[in-house]
Amino acid sequence: MNADSTNLLSLDRRGLEAFFAGMGEKPFRSRQLMQWIYQRKVIRPDDMTDLSKALRSRLAEHSCVQLPQIASQQVSADGTCKWLLRLHDGSGIETVFIPEDDRGTLCVSSQVGCSLNCSFCATARQGFRRNLTVDEIIGQVWIANDALEALGYRHPNAAEHGVSDHRRPVTNVVMMGMGEPLVNFDNVVAAMNLMMDDFSFGLSRRRVTLSTAGMVPAMDRLRETCPVSLAVSLHAPDDELRDELVPLNRKYPIAVLLDACRRYVEDSGRQRITFEYVMLDGVNDTPAHARKLAGLLRDIPSKVNLIPFNPFPGVPYGRSDGAVIDQFRDILLERNVFTVTRRTRGDDIDAACGQLAGDFIDRTRRSERLRRVAAPVR
Ligand code: SAH
Repeated sequence: MNADSTNLLSLDRRGLEAFFAGMGEKPFRSRQLMQWIYQRKVIRPDDMTDLSKALRSRLAEHSCVQLPQIASQQVSADGTCKWLLRLHDGSGIETVFIPEDDRGTLCVSSQVGCSLNCSFCATARQGFRRNLTVDEIIGQVWIANDALEALGYRHPNAAEHGVSDHRRPVTNVVMMGMGEPLVNFDNVVAAMNLMMDDFSFGLSRRRVTLSTAGMVPAMDRLRETCPVSLAVSLHAPDDELRDELVPLNRKYPIAVLLDACRRYVEDSGRQRITFEYVMLDGVNDTPAHARKLAGLLRDIPSKVNLIPFNPFPGVPYGRSDGAVIDQFRDILLERNVFTVTRRTRGDDIDAACGQLAGDFIDRTRRSERLRRVAAPVR
């Protein structure tokens, strides 16, 4: 690999076409290359047998496929898998796979750390380090599919299809891991376009969901350029409480956020918005909160996901009781708001919602601190 080497994972179809044009090659080369990399898992140019020998050697000279490295892999009793990935600069991010009967959902990170500082979120504790690049985002999907196949996971309908079928274990992607995806807009959109490309993983828009804490201007841009399924982390039915839980609310309060949601459903032809609501014991979980929430969502096609809070050390909140969550759900249902309680998956491996912390960084920081302490004082 030389210094001007392009990481092929950093280019979506248009980017690859430009890359090949620069080499005097036809645009269809980009489709061939994507099929090799994403569908056949072949990353060495030498093995890409339908490319000419000359092109293969130029690719080997001017490009590379650099993937994140698996620092650790954990498999939960319920089949959930979590990977801690090490990036080229030593940062750590986490990616989680949640298998269900009819689908396999990958929860993908968009940043190292996060800048939004939601009071109940483990990622917030590490602060913000940097945005992920396109290759680091699509790389999570590549690595997960590969690792899952090695573990024996298959596409839910694999048995019905022939060996030439390129369907992979990951059928759905949720941009719901570490970070706020809309703060890293361009890279996240390019990576989502790649996931949805027929010559790559070919996921439909319906199967790619982006979750946001409510970056209103970027929600409008997303609607205009890449209207994937949208999830909004609401968590409170009034501004006073939401200001406390999701500080971004001070910039884009609930009324402004819900207007953006209405525009999203109307313009993009999306069926509905998913609203996430973390159930915090005694904080946002009373019947009055539920009634207020139902009122807010009355005229928005929506689905509410109640997430039982996942505690972590040092956090001042507890998880609402099951009975409280059921009552909250019933109040919403009675008011015709479609509501489900999210099952907690993978909690034996700290893979549950909001627990992604990139331990690895903490460990790195700890060893940096130790080194600093150990260094001689001049
Ligand atoms: N920044 C984006 C996506 C990452 S968080 C967003 O805010 O939507 C993914 C989801 O997990 C969000 O709904 C978030 O509020 C929720 N979450 C964060 N910490 C949690 C915790 N400790 N328990 C349960 N859910 C949590």
